Amino acid sequence: MSILVTGGVGYIGSHTVVELLNRDEDIIIVDNLVNSKPEAINRIKKITGKDFKFYEVDILDEKKLENVFKENNIESVIHFAGLKAVGESVEKPLEYYQNNVAGTLTLLKIMIKYNCKKIVFSSSATVYGDPGTPKYIEELGRGKTTNPYGTTKSMIEQILEDLYISDNSWNIAILRYFNPVGAHESGLIGEEPQGIPNNLMPFIMKVANKELDHLNVFGNDYEGTKDGTGARDYLHVVDLAIGHIKALEKLDKEKNGVFVYNLGTGTAYTVLEIVEAFKKVNNVDVPYKIAPRRNGDLAIYYADPTKAEKELGWVAKRGIEEMCRDSWNFVISNMRG
Ligand code: NAD
Ligand code: UDP
Repeated sequence: MSILVTGGVGYIGSHTVVELLNRDEDIIIVDNLVNSKPEAINRIKKITGKDFKFYEVDILDEKKLENVFKENNIESVIHFAGLKAVGESVEKPLEYYQNNVAGTLTLLKIMIKYNCKKIVFSSSATVYGDPGTPKYIEELGRGKTTNPYGTTKSMIEQILEDLYISDNSWNIAILRYFNPVGAHESGLIGEEPQGIPNNLMPFIMKVANKELDHLNVFGNDYEGTKDGTGARDYLHVVDLAIGHIKALEKLDKEKNGVFVYNLGTGTAYTVLEIVEAFKKVNNVDVPYKIAPRRNGDLAIYYADPTKAEKELGWVAKRGIEEMCRDSWNFVISNMRG
């Protein structure tokens, strides 16, 4: 019996595959490499010393995806495949709905055909919208999303819930990630955004590496944060990867249901706290300038991770130092060649 990992060559998927292989799970990756490089496959093999099957397949390609199910005995799916750039989703909404929503529908349809009804889905804290409180707890439910990317996540959550209502032999975990950062401690896999990054940590990495000359800090007049800069719940990608293992274990135990969990640390750090920690831990300079607020940004939010701790036995163990150290280690051992 195998676990299918869609999007398994990507940032979070590759770290999750490493954790699965370290636990001797039999895994198969499907990825069309639209936002990842094939070298990551060899690097996963190097880290773990284990082999696995990889299919370069678009999840929208029903025939080819069905073939993966035909050739293998797939028991469960961890579904990472999707496009994730918020700004790009505003410019190309149809591509995002097509890839993320239609891609998931194709996957679910084939899963039904092969009687595979166990799935872990990558959702996001963005589905909460702006609930009017900084501490996000699962019961708040989904709010009004502010961009097509967020809406695809919200729609897919709804689709999975409706699917369960139609057939309650499904076994579904929806994981709402906060802000994943960091990289594997080997320095072999990590996040490598194309072009100029939108997210804070990849931007800091490029500034520290002198590829960009300074960081723009988007606003320093927010209320409710320590120094006026925006605050977020950053979590180490390896902790996040382990959250998926715990979610699968939960599904194995429960047999059926829809389970929604926040995966975050429960602590928010401001932009300047991250910059200062990065400089101190890595002994590098990160020049920055205060810039206007970025449209659509909230001042502060963070996870209430109590439910994941209680029901999954999952707690994020790696702190801000490890997040900054491992991000930089990935730059010096990989991006610099
Ligand atoms: P990523 O882009 O590194 O990984 C996604 C992978 O999916 C890539 O390897 C890409 O090539 C693949 N892919 C995309 N569309 C595909 C398709 N149609 N068919 C096959 N493969 C396809 O992104 P990530 O950061 O690893 O994110 C993984 C998942 O987690 C995504 O669904 C993302 O929306 C979600 N998520 C990410 C974050 C974050 O900050 N990184 C936060 C919340 C949720
Ligand atoms: N941020 C910033 N400069 C950048 C990128 C991000 O000041 O170049 C801030 C942003 O305003 C937010 C925090 O860093 O307060 C995290 O932003 P990111 O885009 O990484 O994640 P998200 O907005 O999705 O939480």
